[in-house]
Amino acid sequence: MAGQFGGTPIYILREGSQRTAGRDAQRSNIMAAKAVAGAVRTTLGPKGMDKMLVDTMGDVVITNDGVTILKEMDIEHPAAKMMVEIAKTQDQEVGDGTTSAVVLAGELLKQAEGLLEQEIHPTIIAAGYRAAADKSMEILKGLTVSVLAKDEDLLMKIAFTAMAGKGSQSARDELAVMAVEAVRSVVDEDGTVDTDNITVEKKVGGGITDSLLVSGVVIDKDRLHPSMPKSVTDAKIALLNVAMEIEKTEVDAKIQITSPDQLQAFLDQEEKMLKGMVDKIVASGANVLFVQKGIDDLAQHFLAKAGIYTLRRVKKSDMEKLARATGGKVITSIHEISKDDLGKAGLVEERKVSDDKMTFVQQCDNPKSVSIILRGGTVHVVDELDRAMEDALRVVGVAFEDKMLVAGGGAPEVELALRLRAYASTVSGREQLAIEAFADAMEVIPKTLAENAGLDQIDTLVALRSAHEKGMKGAGLDMDTGKPVEMLKLGVVEPLRVKTQAIKSATEVAVMILRIDDVIASKSGPGAMGGMPGGMGGMGGEDFE
Ligand code: ADP
Ligand code: MG
Repeated sequence: MAGQFGGTPIYILREGSQRTAGRDAQRSNIMAAKAVAGAVRTTLGPKGMDKMLVDTMGDVVITNDGVTILKEMDIEHPAAKMMVEIAKTQDQEVGDGTTSAVVLAGELLKQAEGLLEQEIHPTIIAAGYRAAADKSMEILKGLTVSVLAKDEDLLMKIAFTAMAGKGSQSARDELAVMAVEAVRSVVDEDGTVDTDNITVEKKVGGGITDSLLVSGVVIDKDRLHPSMPKSVTDAKIALLNVAMEIEKTEVDAKIQITSPDQLQAFLDQEEKMLKGMVDKIVASGANVLFVQKGIDDLAQHFLAKAGIYTLRRVKKSDMEKLARATGGKVITSIHEISKDDLGKAGLVEERKVSDDKMTFVQQCDNPKSVSIILRGGTVHVVDELDRAMEDALRVVGVAFEDKMLVAGGGAPEVELALRLRAYASTVSGREQLAIEAFADAMEVIPKTLAENAGLDQIDTLVALRSAHEKGMKGAGLDMDTGKPVEMLKLGVVEPLRVKTQAIKSATEVAVMILRIDDVIASKSGPGAMGGMPGGMGGMGGEDFE
């Protein structure tokens, strides 16, 4: 990039930087964003397909979940990354509707391309899209049905709809009941729901129907030593996030031992230190100990002798749940432990679940903590079930909080398209075209649902449109027949927030991408223009630390 100054070119960018401007930049960004939407669109809906993701280590994830797919993909293009961000935002805000949000954003950009071809300025498109999104919020509010905490059946249907297509079919009733009950037990007095109070443990073995809901926290570990008590009532729980080991020196220190006495003294010293640690725990009054790190064999022996029920290498996320459930404090130094730091539970017990033993922490100080143990034949089944349950818990939680739902199955999108077109005709100037484009984009949801179910997109859309024109506001796609059906009757319902959030974030990202007309990328580092390298990597590891 060079300007001219008295005949001498002036370079303002480092050599090797890349710059794309104007239509080229827009084209490349839109293409990348559409590619991301294209990558997840086949997974949309109850009949959506799954994706198998393989990382560089050969680990496999099989999923239908939009945000999971996008998180696992190693996406490099900056505009494509913005698309991934909307899936993440959607996930954080409502926990469901991630694929819809991304597909919608992709379609908004595709429609915008047509407008750009007609020389409509991005600023006009952005204004039209924003106006259409605002109008959509208003229209959606008019389509809501209220749901109360006592509407068990309706709440269950919300859970069904969220879990549809995620490997839960064979036990959808049981799982939906579990989701609703779990959320019900963690609702606060002020009506807010924090699903972090719900622990979901996965256990391979048995069938999906063997999954169960229990009060308290369940940890997928058995007690450290067989001579520790199997069950502790009136538990006083110490939570520790440091190792109960003698610290190894960083440098390779050599200790010269010249006589057997010295060796003995050395070992005695180690033993004394470990014993000292255990004594601290005992002195605090704890009879249960959960440690996030390792525990030396000798310390295990002393703990067993003291009759303390102990677990080691407990996941960090479980430690946090335990702290919350038992009212205990996670201690970072054994020497500081005191009675006040201990958590309380009526019962800590090791129980057998299929062939494995797990630790149940029940009758907790905080009655709001519950756990769901998910069962299934293989790791992949349980993992996908976990994602389905995660979505269900979140949407049921959102329903408890907002008390408002809308029909699913493409119904609100078709209604929106219809009403937005009517609204567009009231708007003058070129913005009108953008609002119409926005309306057309909404229909990508029913179209994709149909496509993924092997139905004809055009036929189904035409039928849906005419049902809505006749006033069937809740008409959505019956996946089995391809006919428009009242979704509320069919039990396909979603929290309003899933829809509003998806539209808000899809609009935001589409507008943001449209408004970029210059991409300047430095020589090294990410952001190089062009394709979307599709290698996998960066799989989320276990969270021990
Ligand atoms: P997302 O990540 O966007 O939640 P999903 O794959 O979960 O993607 O699909 C959600 C879409 O599927 C929503 O539009 C929802 O209304 C629709 N849907 C779910 N269950 C059914 C059903 N039984 N019949 C018709 N549509 C359904
Ligand atoms: Mg979903």
